[in-house]
Amino acid sequence: MPASERTRRELFRRGGGRCAMCQRFLVIDAGPGGAGYHIAEAAHIVAEAADGPRGRGDRPADVNGIANLVLLCPSDHRTIDKGAGARLWPPDKLLRLKRDHEAWTAVLASRPPQPSGDPVPARTPPGPGTVIVVDGEPYRLCGGTRGVRDVARHADGAFEVTAEGDGSAVWCQGHAYGEGGTEGHAWLRRSEAEPGAGTLRAALADEAALLLDLPALPGLPRLLGVDMTAEAVTLVTAMPSPLTVHDRLARAGLLPGPDELALLARALPPLGEALGRLHDRGSAHRALSPGTLLMPALDTVMLRDLGLASTPPRAGERDDPCHAPEQAAGTVLPGPPADVHRLARVLYELITGCSPGRRARQVAPSTLNPAVPARWDAAFRDALAADPAHRPDVRRFAAALRAGTRTAVRAPRGRGR
Ligand SMILES: [Zn+2]
Repeated sequence: MPASERTRRELFRRGGGRCAMCQRFLVIDAGPGGAGYHIAEAAHIVAEAADGPRGRGDRPADVNGIANLVLLCPSDHRTIDKGAGARLWPPDKLLRLKRDHEAWTAVLASRPPQPSGDPVPARTPPGPGTVIVVDGEPYRLCGGTRGVRDVARHADGAFEVTAEGDGSAVWCQGHAYGEGGTEGHAWLRRSEAEPGAGTLRAALADEAALLLDLPALPGLPRLLGVDMTAEAVTLVTAMPSPLTVHDRLARAGLLPGPDELALLARALPPLGEALGRLHDRGSAHRALSPGTLLMPALDTVMLRDLGLASTPPRAGERDDPCHAPEQAAGTVLPGPPADVHRLARVLYELITGCSPGRRARQVAPSTLNPAVPARWDAAFRDALAADPAHRPDVRRFAAALRAGTRTAVRAPRGRGR
């Protein structure tokens, strides 16, 4: 027997009509004249059936009682109930989330309305050296005395923090090191904001759901842990090595030679497959840069994170050095072709030492670095096309570079770590 209508209503009231995870408002406004409706779901913390999610172990006296239900959106309900999601969200963690969420809802409801002119206290964001605990595991943010390094160009020691709006919300991401049972390099992304405020929380909750939904592939990051309170979401993914493709293959002042290029070609298909899986679902990374392409082993290039995959695309969303034309301006929404363009820009600079520029036609890479196979020139020309519709899909681009080189592969000198 499911929870009663009365219990559901009370759960909706206690949760302020917002999902406890992504904090999205769950009432859909039908617009003028229409009747609004809600998409809220009363998710069981311990399943009704013993063989359901979190159904084993201690069972509450009333499995359909309000104490065993948490208010979620349909997407987050699905996430906690299937596969690795059920493991990542044990009953005690969901119970904490529910209590936290309902407590904050009560505080917000009893607080007098703030005069709009009042300054909002700014947050003190975490920084290098800060230890953040996720799922009971301590992760120390790297960077230390070397200062903040640009996350677009590095993964090793990188850290970035941005304040949203008036400084009452902060977003940060960076290289962390697991100091507990998950000892090793990790990538951490965190959003802090007043409950119900801050636009990046929902994106981070969606990213956790997306990571759990994607298959385990060598080119995709693996979710180590996720922590959600009413005010913060932290996501930690494994980083087998903080070495990027540039760290491995482009030694300072030296262009990659035939051996490095052959290694690159061999290591790209796993990345093509990882991006292809995102593209198959209609989403795209949209933030590929030298720092996001890790090379943990000589046969694999992998994504450091999922970039902007869970943020809705818009024209004008990025104008960083690697942006695809449609990201800076235009009427075409950035999607999978933007990843192909960005990837080609990053690789062009890696193999030639020069930026491809923003002209309609780039200098052929094999002209700038004689070690580049001539067959790569056409692949880069197509991938860098200004019109997204003229670019190949990402798996084809990776396969074209793979097919373009058949040089014997030898390990390059002294690039291990
Ligand atoms: Zn949600």
